[in-house]
Amino acid sequence: MAVSETIREAARIIGTARRIVALTGAGISAESGIPTFREAQTGLWAEFSPQDLATPEAFAADPERVWGWYRWRRTLIARGGVNAGHTALATLGRTREMVIATQNVDGLHAAAGSIDIAELHGNIWRERCNRCARESVCDIALEDDEAPLPICTACGGTTRPAVVWFGEALPVNAFARAQRAIADADCILVVGTSNQVYPAASLAEQAVASATPVIEINPQPTGLSPAVDLYWAETASQALPDLVAALDAGESAR
Ligand code: NAD
Ligand code: ZN
Repeated sequence: MAVSETIREAARIIGTARRIVALTGAGISAESGIPTFREAQTGLWAEFSPQDLATPEAFAADPERVWGWYRWRRTLIARGGVNAGHTALATLGRTREMVIATQNVDGLHAAAGSIDIAELHGNIWRERCNRCARESVCDIALEDDEAPLPICTACGGTTRPAVVWFGEALPVNAFARAQRAIADADCILVVGTSNQVYPAASLAEQAVASATPVIEINPQPTGLSPAVDLYWAETASQALPDLVAALDAGESAR
């Protein structure tokens, strides 16, 4: 399908939808300069894979190292900020019901102005006390590697990033919210996820198993691509603004 035809087809599907779900992954934040899970880390972190750092075992063995990695990622996120893909999804959500179920922990959908967000893997800007489980928003100087490990202001215990690590359960409410939203949706967008990390990937499977149209936006095809109604081989920051523009053009032509 020619590019313009793909855009038209996506706009036709979304144009009649009142309730949309967007399932997003690391790819939507890639153009903010935040590496996806499968991309190489840089500098100090080049020798580590996220699978070696994002686990309870890694944290127990070396909390300084794991906190160092999360502080580095916070710095990248703060520097990168939202991109045109996040912004276009927020724009879509202003004229229709939109639930975003994201595997990202970067908080960039909220920063772009989206309201209804199910954070399946937590949020890197929050931390949780290992002793009393109280959650708080981070106030760590971003690039200060020498800063001491964060301490819970309520009980003095050590804290950890409030994200879901490999081997940990997802937040029940966020996952159930995503499942309900998919069941109620008129259209589902799957953007920038390899659909390989479970149980989050089961949401995209739920979507393709339903009768609801599914549009996938990803420059690389995934295991899901053959099963979706429209596979759009494009980056998020190109495709989503193109979609918004096509919808706007359709509205004004009416
Ligand atoms: P993933 O790394 O497995 O897959 C990323 C996908 O994005 C790939 O399919 C890739 O082709 C696609 N992609 C790359 N550039 C893109 C672009 N510009 N536009 C659209 N798509 C693009 O990531 P995942 O599927 O999200 O799952 C793995 C885990 O990654 C999750 O557990 C998540 O918590 C974690 N993660 C989150 C962040 C973040 O918060 N920004 C960053 C890295 C990893
Ligand atoms: Zn505490």
